[in-house]
Amino acid sequence: MTVRVAVNGYGTIGKRVADAVAKQPDMKLVGVAKTRPNFEAERAVAKGFKLYLAGSGTQEAFDQAGLPVAGRVEDLFREVDVVVDAAPDKIGRENAKLYQAAGVRAIFQGGEKSDVAQVSFSALANYSAGKGKRTIRVVSCNTTGLSRAVSVLTSRWPVEQWEATIVRRAADPAETNRGPINGIMPTFQLPSHHGHDVNTIFPDLHIATTAVVVPTTLMHVHVNHVQFTTPPGDNAELLAAFRSTPRFRVFSPWAGVDGTPQVMEFARDRGIGHQDMMENVLWENGLRVDGKSAYFFQAIHQESIVVPETIDAIRAMFDLAPDAAHSIAITDRTLGIPPP
Ligand code: NAP
Repeated sequence: MTVRVAVNGYGTIGKRVADAVAKQPDMKLVGVAKTRPNFEAERAVAKGFKLYLAGSGTQEAFDQAGLPVAGRVEDLFREVDVVVDAAPDKIGRENAKLYQAAGVRAIFQGGEKSDVAQVSFSALANYSAGKGKRTIRVVSCNTTGLSRAVSVLTSRWPVEQWEATIVRRAADPAETNRGPINGIMPTFQLPSHHGHDVNTIFPDLHIATTAVVVPTTLMHVHVNHVQFTTPPGDNAELLAAFRSTPRFRVFSPWAGVDGTPQVMEFARDRGIGHQDMMENVLWENGLRVDGKSAYFFQAIHQESIVVPETIDAIRAMFDLAPDAAHSIAITDRTLGIPPP
């Protein structure tokens, strides 16, 4: 079966998901939708993707920009099995009414509240929960990063309490309308919403998160403190668990990767996706087992981490693979993410 896919919203996440869908052997990208012409719309046309008008978009505006349009989103929805919604936060909930009216399945992103879909999804954690669903929400970048790590640890060692402080990037690189450009802004929601969101995937996990926003655009960094009832034996055992799991990259000290600037330089050199880092990034010397506790840092590339998860969500929805491992293997091979 080849699943026909539309991407509604062609910005940071949508353009990456569209490229990823186009690489899958069991999916076909039918078209992408935007409200207005810009450089991203021009790139979509250059790649041969059919462009459709979303929201308040007008044919006239695209005509003036010289960009061909194949129709409105309603026309697109008639030609597909599923829509990946990658519109800005909260617009997905509005768009949900359109998907329902068109009788088409939908994958939402983490900017929407969890009740927008039948299930919240993270491939390593709950792939099978997505099977056969009509609506799935791929959790946010931070929740995806945390959920992957929770999957690794809780499947091996019982966790008593997980605490994480999320050092959040202020904006994506192209977002010149967000800040701060100088300052560290505490998130005055204690605990922050991220832990609650992890509970949409792991309802029984005791997790509490806090967050600060810092002036960087590259990545988020999570500072994790995990208390176990039965802990890993030592650092090496914990490291081996991460290293043997897909979508984790652990840098050794010799690599000279001291922080997020070098991680993203590595990603630019490697050149997969849009020079992306779709794995959770850990450091060998940024991890320590201490009695019943473990501490570790992980960096999350907000622009791309949810892309492979979105592909797996489509595969789960249409039961295209027997389990998470098979889907992850296809997704990662086609996207160029190295196996463990
Ligand atoms: P974005 O860069 O602002 O892109 C949004 C896209 O949606 C733009 O192409 C925009 O087109 C289009 N759009 C606007 N109104 C629309 C409508 N009514 N119908 C369809 N498309 C519409 O946003 P993003 O960062 O990709 O975020 C998309 C979703 O992914 C959000 O739920 C967000 O929370 C989530 N997410 C984002 C990140 C991240 O770090 N960026 C990480 C994980 C998850 P126009 O330019 O024409 O307005």
